[in-house]
Amino acid sequence: MPKLQLHWQILIAICLAILVGYLSNKQSTFLGIHLLSVFDFIGTMFMNALKMVIVPLIASSIITGIAGIGGSHGLGRMGGKTILYYMTTSLFAIMVGLVVVNMVEPGIVDGEPIRDIIKVSDEQIEMAKAKVDGKEAGSVADIFLRMVPPNIVTASAEGQMLGLIFFCILFGFFITKIPDAYAEAQYNFWQGMYEVMLKITDFIIKFAPIGIFGLIASVVIGLDKDSDDMNRMAAALGSFTGTVIVALAIHMFITMPLMLKFLARVNPLRHFKAMAPAMLTSFSTASSSATLPITLDCVEKNAKVSNRTSSFVLPLGATINMDGTALYECVVAIFIFQAFGYDLTFTQQFLIVFTALMTSIGVAGIPAASLIAIMIILKAVGLDDASASAGLAMVLVVDRVLDMCRTSVNVFSDSCGAVIIGKSEGEEGILADEQPAKA
Ligand code: ASP
Repeated sequence: MPKLQLHWQILIAICLAILVGYLSNKQSTFLGIHLLSVFDFIGTMFMNALKMVIVPLIASSIITGIAGIGGSHGLGRMGGKTILYYMTTSLFAIMVGLVVVNMVEPGIVDGEPIRDIIKVSDEQIEMAKAKVDGKEAGSVADIFLRMVPPNIVTASAEGQMLGLIFFCILFGFFITKIPDAYAEAQYNFWQGMYEVMLKITDFIIKFAPIGIFGLIASVVIGLDKDSDDMNRMAAALGSFTGTVIVALAIHMFITMPLMLKFLARVNPLRHFKAMAPAMLTSFSTASSSATLPITLDCVEKNAKVSNRTSSFVLPLGATINMDGTALYECVVAIFIFQAFGYDLTFTQQFLIVFTALMTSIGVAGIPAASLIAIMIILKAVGLDDASASAGLAMVLVVDRVLDMCRTSVNVFSDSCGAVIIGKSEGEEGILADEQPAKA
């Protein structure tokens, strides 16, 4: 019997998980065992397995990739292109969000600011506060400080990706500066390590359908399906949810494919197909960092981008290039101001765009990380603490679903970046449009 392709297996797992999650509740048991804890166990095990390979995979991938670029000229050129790509696409995404949220005005329903319709309870405000309290604010200076960690072992252990990436870039670069005999030994060692990590990643990916089933089922089962409060809020937030999804879809299905087509001459449909396992994983995990091993695998094996390019563009992208997150931050901030009945001036909207761009760089690739950035934006534009928490409490009801969507956009943009930059470095890739035969 022909084996079903991985993305179909994952898709079926997602559908089954939604069904099972919907039909059960937090108390459901099977043979005396709580279903929620079983799904949680499976999902956590899968996430752990992905996280387990991140440090050695990223380290070996970056080191071999950078050592392969060879010298400061190549590295500077690649770095310049990558940063330009990240900034441009994030800005495009924010602009789309800005236009859509101003057109739809989801914060106003029947001429009334939504805040009066929803009536956020104190308990919900407390919940929102608890989500962001004590988390790192991530100012611009902070981002630079995190790039140079005082202790690389601690940074790796704590999953501080920026520090790890920076150290590995230095390591790979200086391999090219030592005597040939040592350089060769170092390069071969890291190349071997990289090959092993890819094999382990391949092995973990085989379990993706089961792991993703667990992740989705535990999210769906955990939803408060019967709470009136929640239902009323979710219904009132329908237009907001729609706005975010439409804006994300425009970026993912119009802007990015156009860039693929015109900058890399790549057939977008084939790229979507190549990236399907990574997209479905990012959707299920809501974490670009946890998805990174699968993103690397898909970009190198299916999209045929070289390790030299993907090892630079993808880990960095998973940490600092977040188009979906930037778009979301902008839409949420403007939605909350609309919901409170404030008219924003052009300068305030500009401030939101700028802060969304900057904070999206500092947001970690983990679930719900943008909530902290949204708090920063709201306060930067002048909202007081209590109102900002109340605003955040409104969107929390639908945040998980939107997190899944924006994370997929984040990962997709990184993958397009790898293809576009790879192409600009003269790589062919299998996804290139076939050139018409000359008559
Ligand atoms: N969950 C997102 C990611 O990992 C970050 C966020 O927007 O919360 O890419």
